[in-house]
Amino acid sequence: ENIPVIAIDGPSGAGKGTAARLVAEKLGWHLLDSGAIYRVLAVASQHHHLGVEEEEPLIPIAAHLDVQFTISSSGEGKVILEGENVTDIIRTEEIGELASKVAAFPRVREALLRRQRAFKNTPGLVADGRDMGTVVFTTAPVKVFLTASAEERAQRRYNQLKAKGFDVKIGRLLDDIRQRDERDQNRKVAPLVPAEGALILDSTDLSIDEVVERILTFTNEKL
Ligand code: C5P
Repeated sequence: ENIPVIAIDGPSGAGKGTAARLVAEKLGWHLLDSGAIYRVLAVASQHHHLGVEEEEPLIPIAAHLDVQFTISSSGEGKVILEGENVTDIIRTEEIGELASKVAAFPRVREALLRRQRAFKNTPGLVADGRDMGTVVFTTAPVKVFLTASAEERAQRRYNQLKAKGFDVKIGRLLDDIRQRDERDQNRKVAPLVPAEGALILDSTDLSIDEVVERILTFTNEKL
């Protein structure tokens, strides 16, 4: 019951994913990338030839999502949906966009709650997303809200995608980020807001190492 959770929330591109992974590695704790679950659901909805405009048909898909998060011997994370390797597909902008749409449905979110909470195992969990501290792990002793300017986040996304060989335009990415922020912040259920008592961390001018350092220091104060 008393398994500690570090809940890291914030807008897309703030560096949550990398920070959460490094903090989890440092502490030897489990890791939950909750955004990946919404992304996988978006891919699953395509497999089932469903649009993302209607909530009802998505609920059973969310409830029975056949997904595995594995780590290969080389330490690389892999995501397998219905036996298919979707590790790279889920990272595209198109799927991110669809994920943010399916994530706006309250009953879809509810159907994914138990799956997310199951990641909480000894000796601890680092969870990153939009509502880790406000909904999924409300009793988490450590809550962090990691943000950065939209321009900086677009630049980071650009660098990431470029490195992976995707052909992208920075202006388009900035538009996408603003649109996604807008949708995530203004939806009725689990909107993106800092949890009470969260450490607000603006990473615009911080290196990833500095971000990790501050989260670890804050964790030490809290635990
Ligand atoms: O973090 P990531 O960009 O992978 O998340 C994709 C989308 O999934 C987000 O834009 C957001 O709409 C949704 N999401 C969410 N709640 C979470 C994690 C992600 O609504 N805990």
